[in-house]
Amino acid sequence: TPQDAAAFIKSQVRTIPDWPMAGVQFRDITPLLQRPKTLRVLIDLFIERYVEAKLDYVAGLDARGFIIAPIVAYELNIGFIPIRKIGKLPYKTVSESYALEYGTATVEIHEDACGAGDRVVILDDLIATGGTMMAGKKLLERLGAVVVEGAAIIDLPDLGGSKLLRENGLPLFTVTEFG
Ligand code: AMP
Repeated sequence: TPQDAAAFIKSQVRTIPDWPMAGVQFRDITPLLQRPKTLRVLIDLFIERYVEAKLDYVAGLDARGFIIAPIVAYELNIGFIPIRKIGKLPYKTVSESYALEYGTATVEIHEDACGAGDRVVILDDLIATGGTMMAGKKLLERLGAVVVEGAAIIDLPDLGGSKLLRENGLPLFTVTEFG
């Protein structure tokens, strides 16, 4: 069942205490990618979710969204859009900045990445404060896309990002959460 799959995925996430800094519990998805069984169970959860959604693109957030999103796009027979950290995309870009705990971050998308009315899901590994996902939503909407949903393997609900995103009109699908 999907609940069994989600519990299995959660059990295979590796937690690294105090990385990359003291106080952070880093949720490492590499064990999910490493074995064919976990990779397939994970990807199939997203495929089941979106197979009937009539999507035009899956957008992935730099960097770990880039691992999952193209696999999902390939299986859905649609395209992949990279949303990158500033300075990486070679063609004309649109950019959005957002606040971090210390300073700001900026993400970019190619201005011709998709067209008005295209239906897009944004995929990342994890939602913490939700800032990255929110910036991705704004970029896609500036191109005229319809952002159908945001999706991630892991939600950290205590950081409030998923609540914020939903309050700002972005439905979310997350496989599992860590409190
Ligand atoms: P945010 O914009 O705060 O939602 O942060 C989301 C991004 O930061 C995601 O792309 C994650 O890859 C990364 N991230 C934040 N916190 C963690 C964590 N505890 N473990 C792993 N990745 C994290």
